[in-house]
Amino acid sequence: MAAAATPGDRKKKLRVFFLPFFARGHLIPQTDLACRLAAARPSDVESTIVVTPANALLIEPTVSRATASGHVVHILPYPFPDVGLGPGIECLSAAPARDEWRVYRAADLAQPAHEALLRAHRPDAVVADVSFWWTTDVAVELGIPRLTFHPVGAFPQLAMNNLFAVRADIVARGGREADRRQLRVAVPGMPGGKLPDFLVRDDHLSALWGRLKAAQLTGFGVVVNTFADLERAYCDEYRRVDARRAYFVGPISQPSLSAVRRGGDGDADCLGWLSTQPSRSVVYVCFGSWAHFSAAQMTELALGLEASNQPFLWVVRSSDAGVPDEAWERRVAGRGVVVRGWAPQLAVLAHPSVGAFLTHCGWNSVLEAASAGVPVLTWPLVFEQFINERLVTEVAAFGARVWDDGAGVRSVRREEADTVPAEAVARAVAGFMERGGRREKAEVKVKELAERARAAVAENGSSWRDMHRLIDDLVQARTSGPNVALSSGDIPSDRGESL
Ligand code: UDP
Repeated sequence: MAAAATPGDRKKKLRVFFLPFFARGHLIPQTDLACRLAAARPSDVESTIVVTPANALLIEPTVSRATASGHVVHILPYPFPDVGLGPGIECLSAAPARDEWRVYRAADLAQPAHEALLRAHRPDAVVADVSFWWTTDVAVELGIPRLTFHPVGAFPQLAMNNLFAVRADIVARGGREADRRQLRVAVPGMPGGKLPDFLVRDDHLSALWGRLKAAQLTGFGVVVNTFADLERAYCDEYRRVDARRAYFVGPISQPSLSAVRRGGDGDADCLGWLSTQPSRSVVYVCFGSWAHFSAAQMTELALGLEASNQPFLWVVRSSDAGVPDEAWERRVAGRGVVVRGWAPQLAVLAHPSVGAFLTHCGWNSVLEAASAGVPVLTWPLVFEQFINERLVTEVAAFGARVWDDGAGVRSVRREEADTVPAEAVARAVAGFMERGGRREKAEVKVKELAERARAAVAENGSSWRDMHRLIDDLVQARTSGPNVALSSGDIPSDRGESL
């Protein structure tokens, strides 16, 4: 156990370590969280982000910005485990699809390095990605709080919990794979909802699920990148069932962090082009940092965007097969711009010319759209993205689907999903954007959400209060130990209604 805290400790800064998972969708918000925590009380908190060397390069611009503002944020590197990936390939977006399993393997192999670093540096608290379940045990050994960082919101987490609870039933009742795709189950414990079939196959996550949950529930608490007004009923339920303490501190990534190099070298030229376009006219098309389309789907998407007659800004990765050719680029020149690699997404979404976001519904993208007040067209691909889509289209209602179940097979497995034809893409995009189209209703909702997101992080807003409560609880745990009693803020609220 740790030595008892002395009165002198109270004057020292709280040293908080952050351990992000090897994916940009985890690295970016956890880095932003480390910087915001250090900025919330510069005289009380210093943050250290523990990352492997190539991932350190990705977060370095954000950290430099924080330190230039006088906040104490360190980067502490450790070697990326040898899993047969090439030099510099240390996260999901850098690995080819066939090697993604190696990234998960590397995460498992990082356990000894994490344990050694925590023992050697003995921070006052550790905020570790949900996948690094072992940090709960080391934290107990060191007598410090371990917080779980969750990269997705309360609604998808509760949905996944409840789907896991009925998982055996889904598999047994579903029978053949084809039937399972059609199966709908009522999910117990979810305020108002039926959810699509998900998590029905054995993979890395399903094998680890029990361990992750146990580490989360026995740890000090959970930090979630969401804000109460986005999903209030689910936040309250989450406090009740999924964490000893829950801190809803989002949106963590603020437009003030929208430096072009956030999470990668963003293409700044696209911002100049956006400024030449009419207000609310451009459809921003981006499917996150690593999910891939088939080459055939890329071609249909390109033709669909062309046929939609809308201005668009489309991010494609250099590794994507079927990227549009020069003839296509000539045909859409002036109206459509392709960013190859990485776009400064926060800055793009904040731009007044952007009128809609065609997204895969990764949690960060959903939250960034809501915070920027940009209506969404949903095209989920993998993981919990189909659940996030439900939040966007049905619960918070600030978007519409590109492709409904009835129109063809949608699946978390790329090889099972039908290719969405160009005409359907064009119809969905043009229909959404036209006067009187579904965007108008979504826009009213999302503008209100954006206001509420701003209010949540402003002084005395719900996320501001949770951020400060987190710091207060960690300061108290330093003197009283991590078993300190729950505070009144940990009790579920019944304040107001969800949107
Ligand atoms: N992002 C970006 N530029 C890009 C693609 C993605 O800045 O060209 C950022 C985006 O703003 C978000 C994160 O990368 O913060 C992607 O996270 P999300 O949860 O949306 O998707 P994932 O990549 O995890 O599937």
